[in-house]
Amino acid sequence: PRPRVAVVFGGRSSEHAVSCITAGSVMRAIDRSKYDVVPVGITLDGEWVLEADEPALLAVTDGRMPSVSAADGQAVVLLGSSSRGSLVTLSASEVPHTLGEVDVVFPLLHGPFGEDGTLQGLLEMAGIRYVGAGVLSSAVSMDKHYMKMIFQAHGLPVVPYAVLSPSEWAHDRSACAETVASLGYPVFVKPCRGGSSIGITKVSRPEGLEAAVELARTYDPKVLVEAAVESARELECGVLGSLTPGALPEVSVVAEIVVDPSREFYDFDAKYVSEEDAKLIVPAVMEEGDAVAVRRMAAQAFAAVSCEGLARVDFFVQPDGRLLLNEINTMPGFTPMSMFPRVWAASGVEYPELVDRLVQLALQRPTGLR
Ligand code: ATP
Ligand code: MG
Ligand code: MG
Ligand code: MG
Repeated sequence: PRPRVAVVFGGRSSEHAVSCITAGSVMRAIDRSKYDVVPVGITLDGEWVLEADEPALLAVTDGRMPSVSAADGQAVVLLGSSSRGSLVTLSASEVPHTLGEVDVVFPLLHGPFGEDGTLQGLLEMAGIRYVGAGVLSSAVSMDKHYMKMIFQAHGLPVVPYAVLSPSEWAHDRSACAETVASLGYPVFVKPCRGGSSIGITKVSRPEGLEAAVELARTYDPKVLVEAAVESARELECGVLGSLTPGALPEVSVVAEIVVDPSREFYDFDAKYVSEEDAKLIVPAVMEEGDAVAVRRMAAQAFAAVSCEGLARVDFFVQPDGRLLLNEINTMPGFTPMSMFPRVWAASGVEYPELVDRLVQLALQRPTGLR
């Protein structure tokens, strides 16, 4: 029988819509002669619903972002068995009704409650195979504070930062201001566990700090502040696990993001709304030796957080040529326009092959401790 792949998307984070778009493209690209697809949406409230297998619904229509709504399907809970997981519908009035088993879950979720190890933990508990990073790796990579600590422990160069915890922000505002001032303005204020640039502000003067922190706090009570890396080039590359057991992960070509000067940085709109605001140059125009250094650091970052399956690693290159590691994303945006599929296409792995490779990697992987 064909392996059944549960594509899980939407979710409780601010990146709900991006996840839906990603899922639509994966559902369109996955080889139906090879796999059966079970689309499972998670609403913004966290309700799981069995969705229609209609990828066209999961796209931007007339400028409206797609979303999962509970009316779209039946409530679903995921249960484990020894080798395959069962998808079971449950409602207050009904006896549970089994929809079928799944061989692998493709968690196409970005942000907290999906990309952060929580879903991965549920799947580990149930003994169900899944695509991508495991519990610890997902959790560390989602939280920019712990991510940086792990990178630093591996000797990887990160952007100077400070963390504003909820209690420090509530009880010692002036200490927070001093900490930030010691980084030197301008700074970037970010939700610690976020993505797609949502909730991020570039702050040029101390007077702007409070509003930026309050905005970030609407997404995460824990806030990260970073020194701005000025006049930097922004580079990204993709990492992909190898299907050959024991082989090192592969790293894609390096790409560059050139943000329109009218924008302060690579923000949400430049990523998903107005395509003219950021140009993706794939591959980046750079010295071969410099590209090799970036690719090596991407592999080191992947290994540092014990990542599996896939990741996109983001960098800054300072005007003096020094490379800084910005972050790793364990479930990068995966729409056909996104950077991750584009760097792989430029490296000879087209989108459908990329999807197939990820599912095969997950099917190969043992469940349990590894
Ligand atoms: P994603 O996961 O979608 O890549 P994110 O929400 O995790 O995004 P970052 O990648 O940390 O956020 O930052 C988003 C963008 O903000 C960067 O691509 C860059 O343009 C800008 N930026 C972030 N931090 C800095 C910094 N310290 N100096 C200069 N620019 C920065
Ligand atoms: Mg990120
Ligand atoms: Mg992200
Ligand atoms: Mg980034």
